[in-house]
Amino acid sequence: MSTVLLINLSYVIAAALFVFGLKLLSSAATARRGNMISAIGMLIAVIVTLLDQAIVEFQWILLGVVIGAVIGALGARLVAMTAMPEMVALFNGFGGLASLLVGWAALYEHQLGLFTLITVALSILIGGLTFTGSMVAYGKLSERISGKPVLFTGQQVVNGALVLAILASAAMFCMDPADHTWLYVLIGLSFVFGIMAVIPIGGADMPVVISLLNSYSGLAACAAGFAIGNMILIVAGSLVGASGIILTQIMCKAMNRSLTNVLFSGFGSASSGGTAIEGEVNPIDPQDAYYILEAASSVVVIPGYGMAVAQAQHAVKELQELLEENGCEVVYGIHPVAGRMPGHMNVLLAEADVSYDLLLEMDEINARMPTIDVAIVIGANDVVNPAAKEVEDSPIYGMPIISADQAHTVFVLKRSMASGFAGIDNPLFFKENTRMLFGDARESLTQVIREFE
Ligand code: NDP
Repeated sequence: MSTVLLINLSYVIAAALFVFGLKLLSSAATARRGNMISAIGMLIAVIVTLLDQAIVEFQWILLGVVIGAVIGALGARLVAMTAMPEMVALFNGFGGLASLLVGWAALYEHQLGLFTLITVALSILIGGLTFTGSMVAYGKLSERISGKPVLFTGQQVVNGALVLAILASAAMFCMDPADHTWLYVLIGLSFVFGIMAVIPIGGADMPVVISLLNSYSGLAACAAGFAIGNMILIVAGSLVGASGIILTQIMCKAMNRSLTNVLFSGFGSASSGGTAIEGEVNPIDPQDAYYILEAASSVVVIPGYGMAVAQAQHAVKELQELLEENGCEVVYGIHPVAGRMPGHMNVLLAEADVSYDLLLEMDEINARMPTIDVAIVIGANDVVNPAAKEVEDSPIYGMPIISADQAHTVFVLKRSMASGFAGIDNPLFFKENTRMLFGDARESLTQVIREFE
């Protein structure tokens, strides 16, 4: 078998492993296997690429591998689960920067035709804007910079001018690639464009932006793949690009917003809005909560971002077991955007060994809600906010929610009356059938568990 054939065959195998791995990632039960299979595909791709192209002084690659592996291992160990979206933002950003550098480096390798020059320009443009856009997203999510949308008069005009300048400099670069002036202008403008594209978007929408930037980082890699004529980079880039955009769509749908609305509406710039809420807040203590739970025959747990903050998933599992021993049926209602990243709640509950069969999606649990004795809302706020159904001028009006308010009794475990990520009040806390169990979710659960024991 010729070397070329062997290499191409290996690339096809690697690509098939990527696709198969992605397929397995779509269910929590098979996700780890999917991740492993895709990683094996990537290993094959990397080894074959190294053998294929006598690129290298291997010591540089080795140095890169060691540095990357150390950073990756430290990140995986040290970064808290709640900081995962920020970490993904950084990964996307550096992915974009890598594609920019690959595209740039291609200029020094060959005599390039027009098509390749265009792909170089694209990898630089998309890679550059992904890099700075992701850094801004990282800053907003980690609250290193303000999460408020930055809006100013004439913003559209400035952005329009920026796009025209980018197109012009890309054209100049393609016409005369030997003169690097236009290359540097293009790099600078793409950096500025990334910043300008993300600053008008509020912190609450950053996870969607990160998913979109993930897609861009894939497209940048794809363009870089064309620039250096590497098939597997094209395939991997397209897969990341496509899956990122699908995820973005899923997230927008779960918030009942269009992508255009997320990108351009400046969501979060206005103060909470909505009408004043009527009703009283009824606090409850752990002992009384225990009495109600002890008598319940069906309980639904609705987790949200606060469960991640409190790291309450193990306590939740313990309570679930005690309730089940008591003859109560326990299920979980999972909202697609609960927490700060897709699948956030599933990952945490899986860590506590909660069975996947007990995790019900929004529609399924909503249909059962009127028959449920107690809904325990653990650190969730926006995803159970009835204003989405009841208050027409609410910023989240129309967003599908888990209808916790329809259960016979609702316990809300949170520390204060503070609002959630969307920054708006929640009429659920004032409903007659709601009891507020104030405090850190893990501590409150531990106290209820103690009552059971
Ligand atoms: P929210 O951000 O609405 O609310 C979380 C609540 O947790 C807060 O009100 C907070 O109240 C409480 N909390 C924080 N720490 C603790 C603690 N230690 N113990 C108990 N409670 C705590 O979370 P949801 O999950 O309900 O909603 C997710 C939001 O994120 C939605 O607005 C969604 O649109 C948005 N989003 C999510 C994405 C995703 O992919 N998951 C993507 C894009 C946006 P208090 O401070 O009083 O304790």
